[in-house]
Amino acid sequence: MAKDMREPIESGCPDPWQYMHPVMRKNFGQWKFHEHPRPGVLRHVAYSGDEIWTVKAGTQRILDVFTLRKLCDIGDQLADGYVHFTLRSNIEYMVTEESRVAPLIQALEDAGFIVGGTQNSVTMISHTQGWLHCDIPGTDASGVVKSMMDELIDEFRNATMPNRVHITTSCCQINCGGQGDIAINVQHTKPPKINHDLVANVCERPSVVARCPVAAIRPAMVNGKPSLEVDERKCICCGACYPPCPPMQINDAEHSKLAIWVGGNHSNARGKPTFQKLVAAGIPNNPPRWPEATAIVKRILKAYKEGARDWERVNEWIERIGWPRFFEEVELPFTKYHIDTWRGARASFNSSSYIRF
Ligand code: SF4
Ligand code: SF4
Repeated sequence: MAKDMREPIESGCPDPWQYMHPVMRKNFGQWKFHEHPRPGVLRHVAYSGDEIWTVKAGTQRILDVFTLRKLCDIGDQLADGYVHFTLRSNIEYMVTEESRVAPLIQALEDAGFIVGGTQNSVTMISHTQGWLHCDIPGTDASGVVKSMMDELIDEFRNATMPNRVHITTSCCQINCGGQGDIAINVQHTKPPKINHDLVANVCERPSVVARCPVAAIRPAMVNGKPSLEVDERKCICCGACYPPCPPMQINDAEHSKLAIWVGGNHSNARGKPTFQKLVAAGIPNNPPRWPEATAIVKRILKAYKEGARDWERVNEWIERIGWPRFFEEVELPFTKYHIDTWRGARASFNSSSYIRF
């Protein structure tokens, strides 16, 4: 290494200990029990006798600086300046006396925030970046989340579901987003359209060919220029070729749809991890309020709320009643999109719900 070479700058999460509430630091790993006195509030009691009361409020995730300052001012005035953002874009304030909980809730509600999202509620929808940060979305995740949470806000505010419901979004078909009790994902239904004039200038063709999971892309000469071609019989419309090669445009106002999947869950004390399964496909990607997708999510939540036993998660409820009955309860049709036609499906059939029909 050259003598005066610049040292690399480490980036990543800062050390969390310095920001942690002192009572949480002191009792780290030494908590005796916790309880849920009301929606949006948790009480943790340590073996030492110390207590922490946590008040949780939802945010819209992509926050302007004025909203952030407002939230921080509330923390400075009423919670000793300690806040914590959760994975699902909620803000949490920690206080050590019960008497400080009600004023905190009042201040948050006066400022227009909703307190909730704990225990058996519908949590804030986890949110991919959408148009604001990412270069490949087929829809705007923020808009989907906002319009759905407007309709589901009472389920966030009140803990009246059989168990916790995690909802996730994903604004392309391949990258972030994820597993949830209910997942709203982009679904491309047509192969990419190739702008051959741009491919040679923009794309590294071998990388794009290698990117396709079903080997549907081949190098080709088009109008005397090096380009690519897609075997449309093989293409599964995943969109994986679009990030390394934007001239392979797959986003389309009409043919990029939304699909809803249900039943994804991590393993827990009662069961193994479960993969989510497709239940509704070809739903219009219809901004600014996405009413069709929201209506289906509400139907699924209503059927789950009415039909599940106490503390059954969505996947446990469906496994108990069976998939055919689930489709009847939520009044969803079983369509051609539910059939796995991918040629690698032989390996996945055994772990699929579809063979039970
Ligand atoms: S889901 Fe896809 S489009 Fe959306 S932010 Fe993640 S990578 Fe980008
Ligand atoms: S959309 Fe997916 S399957 Fe189709 S060509 Fe692109 S990478 Fe291959």
